[in-house]
Amino acid sequence: MRLAQVLFSQGFGTRRECENLILAGEVRLQGQVCDDPDHDVDTRGLVFTVEGRDWPFHEKAYLMMHKPAGHECSQKPSAWPSVYTLLPSPLRLRDVQAVGRLDQDTTGLLILTDDGALIHRLTSPKKHVPKVYEVGTADPITDRQMAQLLAGVVLHDDPKPVAAAACERVAERHLRLTLTQGKYHQVKRMLAAAGNEVVTLHRSRFGALELPATLAPGQWCWLAGPQDILAP
Ligand code: URA
Repeated sequence: MRLAQVLFSQGFGTRRECENLILAGEVRLQGQVCDDPDHDVDTRGLVFTVEGRDWPFHEKAYLMMHKPAGHECSQKPSAWPSVYTLLPSPLRLRDVQAVGRLDQDTTGLLILTDDGALIHRLTSPKKHVPKVYEVGTADPITDRQMAQLLAGVVLHDDPKPVAAAACERVAERHLRLTLTQGKYHQVKRMLAAAGNEVVTLHRSRFGALELPATLAPGQWCWLAGPQDILAP
């Protein structure tokens, strides 16, 4: 692939901007400046350097972020900064999208990708991809509430009850809830329907992927691909 095309495909600007970066000597391959936009590059395992920062080549971008509180998952946030501001601009230009949204005050695992087929697969209600939430509640969680959440509760916008796939009381006010749907404010509305209230909410797992303790709030990292998320 032409070096200019490599930069373009990885979100470094328009074709002209990418060529100009190369002509300006801002791009290195294996530590050496390459100022030829037409230079033929093997993209397998490629790591290139732009303005001093190393970039692994990824045909599609698969990322996980530890979403901090106080950020919206929208590209056009209404009140809080967007999670997209936590990504470097080439990834924003590549148009990576959050897979399902977390509320402004929810923390935890957020997957971002520009792979439309994967987004569809992970968000389709038919695929039943499990998401695990650590829920802090206002009141002690009762056996009755656990039974209600597992049997299904009715939310105001749908007469069909929604049920948790799994529900574990970790502590008096700490519930671990596994959901396979992704309805708007689902955890908060389910807990409210069961007669309790969510005070803290953190997503710890999405499909086969667990948020590692080493990824601090606000940080993100590359994933190898869909196989990191989809259970074998
Ligand atoms: N359910 C909610 O209520 N909020 C979230 O952010 C995610 C799931």
